[in-house]
Amino acid sequence: DLAPVKRALLSVSDKTGLVELGKALAEKGVELLSTGGSAKTLRDAGLDVKDVSDVTGFPEMMDGRVKTLHPKVHGGLLALRDNADHVTAMTEHGIGAIDLLVVNLYPFEAALARGADYDEMIENIDIGGPAMIRAAAKNHGFVTTVVDVEDYDALIAELNANDGQTTYAFRQNLAQIAYARTGAYDAAVSSWMADAIGETAPRRRVVAGQIKQTLRYGENPHQTASFYVDGSARAGVATATQHQGKELSYNNINDTDAAFELVAEFNPAETAAVAIIKHANPCGVAKGATLLEAYQKAFDCDRTSAFGGIVALNKALDAETAKAIVEIFTEVVIAPGASDEAKEIFAAKKNLRLLTTDGLPDVLATSNTVRQVAGGMLVQNKDAGFIGLDDLRVMTEKAPTPEQLQDLLFAWKVGKHVKSNAIVYVKNQATVGVGAGQMSRLDSALIAAKKAERMADAMGLSEPLTIGSAVASDAFFPFADGLLEAAAAGATCVIQPGGSMRDQEVIDAANEAGLAMVFTGMRHFRH
Ligand code: 5GP
Repeated sequence: DLAPVKRALLSVSDKTGLVELGKALAEKGVELLSTGGSAKTLRDAGLDVKDVSDVTGFPEMMDGRVKTLHPKVHGGLLALRDNADHVTAMTEHGIGAIDLLVVNLYPFEAALARGADYDEMIENIDIGGPAMIRAAAKNHGFVTTVVDVEDYDALIAELNANDGQTTYAFRQNLAQIAYARTGAYDAAVSSWMADAIGETAPRRRVVAGQIKQTLRYGENPHQTASFYVDGSARAGVATATQHQGKELSYNNINDTDAAFELVAEFNPAETAAVAIIKHANPCGVAKGATLLEAYQKAFDCDRTSAFGGIVALNKALDAETAKAIVEIFTEVVIAPGASDEAKEIFAAKKNLRLLTTDGLPDVLATSNTVRQVAGGMLVQNKDAGFIGLDDLRVMTEKAPTPEQLQDLLFAWKVGKHVKSNAIVYVKNQATVGVGAGQMSRLDSALIAAKKAERMADAMGLSEPLTIGSAVASDAFFPFADGLLEAAAAGATCVIQPGGSMRDQEVIDAANEAGLAMVFTGMRHFRH
């Protein structure tokens, strides 16, 4: 299953490593064919190169739109070397076999990232490159296809190990990578076009990504998993730099993402904020004058669950906060930066992972979220819903005080990041009870209150922090029972979307319990 490499075609937009590769191939006696810019780079380095235009007998034309689209190229890539008819056709038409194809495509994704205009994007759609890649990869029985600069070294190592030949397994593996590349490339083109047209629900959508990390396992040890990135995020777990600690796991990445997205809701120019996450749900979120204060308030919401949690900060980690964090076991800390002193404090905790980014995630980005279902996927744009003071409608005899309104809005923001059914109690800009992921809203209200009672016991407080709190519900109360449970836990004001058939019943119950209640008109389900 060894295939010799005697003739190679090199046509690359990214010229990184091209000269070194060309030299290594030339030393092995490989004949080099190349297109305009690539040929010039190789020739300038003193290498002997044949122009593809001399092979085809046609000049490169139409601004490079037509360079390699010719039977002398595609026949050389596609011909089955062990098929008599194919070999006859090659001889008859003077087609020489091409054993190695090295192509990287016009930088469409880079043009997209720099915001190139429509015409420029169109010119950045590579035609001949993908055609050659797909042809060479199809014929991987004989032809080796390289589409990534990062594979050049492996190619040379392979040729060295096999006396100028490649193994079937090597070619097959590269063919798989090649089709992933052309697939992702056209996915990027198609997504860009959907956006350019303003089509939010294109009839066909392709989701593609590039592997960032092969994970040790998935949610559980018997599941395999990988982390793919698509280059769309400004800042987030996909772009973060890890300074110390073990490799991130599947669950770490998922939880870190949830934590950072939540804390990014709080503008660092206005306040410090900290979120502590377990199993993608917050077990404490708080604002503070300093990060340290915010961390301590968040920690006090549920000290038990915070153990082994993920901590996200909306400002660069400082030494004081770092000292407080290392007092208990924490899995991951993510922040938009960290001071040297803070890094030193963390260095003593070998298992603690510290991730930093260049900024916070863009909470208003209109990016898509994708969820797989059997036989398909659900695509929606991210929940970037925002509620301000002006959006609130007071539904009760009592209106919330300005302080209560601030706590209600805080609870509402946190509730958006809690799995449904979500009930969030807040006092003084800190969560004091979070009920998540229950099948009934009543149970979420009960569980959150119970946890607050347990915390009060543990902290030696005379009463749970839910006394005098604001409570948020991510969706309407279908009955009065959940609301009454919140009142029993000590909540004095409520924020919820409204819109239930029994809204009046719930409003009456709120009035009777002496609660102030506002409706948002917006729901924040999260599953
Ligand atoms: P060069 O810098 O060598 O002139 O051009 C290399 C680039 O041209 C590569 O990205 C390759 O994929 C692309 N390419 C090769 N043949 C064709 C073709 O026939 N049409 C178009 N549009 N691009 C091609």
